[in-house]
Amino acid sequence: MTESNNNWEYAPSLEGTSHIQLKEKYDLFIDGKWVKPSNNRYFDTINPSNEEKLAEIAWASDADVDLAVKAARKAYVEVWSKMKASERAKYIFRIARLMQEHARELAVIETLDGGKPIRESRDIDVPLACNHFFYYAGWADKLQDAFPNRMIQSLGVAGQIIPWNFPLLMAAWKIAPALAAGNTVVLKPAETTSLTALKLAEIIEQSGLPAGVVNIITGHGDTGAAIVNHPDIDKIAFTGSTAVGKLIQKSVIVTAKRVSLELGGKSANIILEDAPIDQAVEGIVNGIFFNQGHVCCAGSRLYVQESIAEEVVRKLKQRMQSLYVGNPLDKNTDVGAINSKEQLSTIEKYINIGINEGADMFQVECEIPSKGFYCRPTIFTNVAQSSVISQEEIFGPVLTIQTFRTIDEVIQKANNSPYGLAAGVWTDKGSRIFNLTSKLRAGVIWANTYNKFDPASPFGGYKESGFGREGGLHGLEAYLK
Ligand code: ADP
Repeated sequence: MTESNNNWEYAPSLEGTSHIQLKEKYDLFIDGKWVKPSNNRYFDTINPSNEEKLAEIAWASDADVDLAVKAARKAYVEVWSKMKASERAKYIFRIARLMQEHARELAVIETLDGGKPIRESRDIDVPLACNHFFYYAGWADKLQDAFPNRMIQSLGVAGQIIPWNFPLLMAAWKIAPALAAGNTVVLKPAETTSLTALKLAEIIEQSGLPAGVVNIITGHGDTGAAIVNHPDIDKIAFTGSTAVGKLIQKSVIVTAKRVSLELGGKSANIILEDAPIDQAVEGIVNGIFFNQGHVCCAGSRLYVQESIAEEVVRKLKQRMQSLYVGNPLDKNTDVGAINSKEQLSTIEKYINIGINEGADMFQVECEIPSKGFYCRPTIFTNVAQSSVISQEEIFGPVLTIQTFRTIDEVIQKANNSPYGLAAGVWTDKGSRIFNLTSKLRAGVIWANTYNKFDPASPFGGYKESGFGREGGLHGLEAYLK
């Protein structure tokens, strides 16, 4: 145990990489085949923990998007919409089983490409992604039971665009309900984290899913925009930044396309004076430092009741000192690499804004690797409600802390945000939980826990956090007429 940080020194325990198979170059998965991009353009995907190149990825052009949409339409009309729902369910179930068989490989690739700790990819991302396929496989032939007394029909072709924070999980959130509801899909992963979606394409190929039902195409924002603007797409499902969400909303408003947007957040984690403090401190750590704060529902604004504030902050600082920041492939690591150089500079920009705004900063005193993109877990106290760091989404391991005296005051402060994705409430009393949950403007509210997900539970936001719900029956409804 070192004196400086009260930390046990663990021997490194690196997850092996010999079992994973990565190609040097990935083409586009269109109509059940691997197709070269029409303009022959590729870009590199790198490992953010050491900046080494992992593979080259195809950059789909408008013509490639058109090819993918045509394949999806043909598969919808000729195969998928005509197939018995119980048969569709079997394919979705088979994909889930194959993902489970490839779980270790998927987890390692997720960590290599995205920078998140292996413990999270292995214990959270991959199992949850499999569970989404299992869950929706179960609904596929029970749609009429799910929505009784309603005439239901699939929408057609869904264009799905996902971000880099939970690459495989977001692909599962989007693809599984779309297929279960009888739609076909064109999905684009984020440019920095395409590899697990491409692995999923290999799994889908192996599952024997009819060609064109799922098409996975890679590229940057222009590829995403080509999907959004394609005239033969019936539904756009987007998860990403509020800025791009607004652009998408503008382009689809003049069309008949359905749209669901899951955007940013600045979620309030509220600790009342009767809360179990040690548990709450774990919940705070889990809420903001989990996945380097790359979580749209991260508990990035902490509100602590004044009478316990000193104790909570002291215990939080102590707990932060024992966090392991470093190689994401190490099973001891709590906080891995920031996803990209650009994101690291955004986070650093906000940390400087916080300092210049006069807030008090505390950062963990740990060593971080000299190569790769890392950020020490950071908290700011003495923060004003109107400050930039408590209003804008930082998307990194940076927490602002404010105190409050009364419940009405904290409700007002928590709701004083352009976002409304999630919130956390810590208290011993059920009545207080219900009082707060009915007054907080957030799509998801956790009580005495944080960042818990389940395929049966809907997820989505209010205000600038977007609209539409994913997960559960709500997530299925979004893919039905
Ligand atoms: P972030 O800022 O978190 O990277 P973005 O909203 O930029 O989030 O990216 C989320 C996804 O949206 C990525 O797959 C990205 O390629 C895609 N994207 C970026 N710009 C556009 C756009 N104008 N239209 C459609 N998709 C886009």
